[in-house]
Amino acid sequence: APYRTVDLRELLDSTLAMFRGKIPPGISVATDYDPELGTVPAYAGELNQVWTNLIHNALDAMGDTGTLTVRTRREHDTALVEIADTGPGVPEELRERIFEPFFTTKGVGRGTGLGLDISYRIVAGRHGGDLRVESVPGDTRFQVRLPLSERVA
Ligand code: ADP
Ligand code: MG
Repeated sequence: APYRTVDLRELLDSTLAMFRGKIPPGISVATDYDPELGTVPAYAGELNQVWTNLIHNALDAMGDTGTLTVRTRREHDTALVEIADTGPGVPEELRERIFEPFFTTKGVGRGTGLGLDISYRIVAGRHGGDLRVESVPGDTRFQVRLPLSERVA
């Protein structure tokens, strides 16, 4: 897939569209997009894989009820994308280990433990960005930061 100029809102909406019909009825989906966001140079298909992984994890964490929020914010030269859920959260002692390959708390056959490892490598290694988590019970945010196309001088 080519490296191109990507509108993150379009990309996030197309990822969310792929989940239509697969989200339990008790889960609401909210979007909150920064109209001033701008574009990023990116491999769109790879970023789509990142959003897919993070949304899958959010849905797994919440089970039958909750809210999935997809949010963007402009932070100076950086685009912030947050995939947030209202699930139980990531315990403090696991917040680094969850990014290791094959680390999973899901049962055998239910999780590979590769989603966050691959996502981190796509965001950091392929795009020069960053992936981190902020989590308290009821508000877990996986935050992707990507360099914007247009840098502020
Ligand atoms: P997998 O989903 O196959 O377990 P991941 O690398 O995607 O592998 O995630 C690793 C672990 O991180 C999960 O097993 C889970 O313990 C934790 N995790 C990821 N996302 C969330 C989330 N939104 N809320 C709570 N825990 C999470
Ligand atoms: Mg996963």
